[in-house]
Amino acid sequence: MLKKILSPKSCAECRLCCIFDSSDIWEMPVFSGETAEILRKSLPDTEFIPCGSGYILRTKEISGTEIISCPALTENGCMLGDSKPFDCRIWPFRIMEIGGRRAITVASICSEIYNRPLSQLVEFLKEGTADTIFSYADEHPEIVKPYDEGYPVLLFEK
Ligand code: SF4
Repeated sequence: MLKKILSPKSCAECRLCCIFDSSDIWEMPVFSGETAEILRKSLPDTEFIPCGSGYILRTKEISGTEIISCPALTENGCMLGDSKPFDCRIWPFRIMEIGGRRAITVASICSEIYNRPLSQLVEFLKEGTADTIFSYADEHPEIVKPYDEGYPVLLFEK
């Protein structure tokens, strides 16, 4: 979905968005029922917790600088390919609630996107991606996260 501004090569070389520590474990994606089933078939030990109309991974408790990887991450990247969760398809963009309004924000950890001019990111979102994100969130409100100040706001919902 972001191929116009984020090259698959950059993602393949980075993978930071598939690795979590105690400060960003809340960033783990919400899996649809279909995607969770694909993952369960490949990795039967994977456990999920219901989250709205989807599922999040059940993980062990982590603390400090301990790191865990999403179980779908392989040496060749995400094993889910085009079936990866919507959260992952739009990352580093996030949808968050701020004072009762929904907004699209950006994760600063993705240097490839974060270092782009703000105008370029906003223009890209306005070309259709923002509508896609808001529409998906209408159906799947569990992807809307509480605002986190580490995520600059790019645009509010009209
Ligand atoms: S589902 Fe795939 S893209 Fe999403 S966090 Fe896991 S490995 Fe990364």
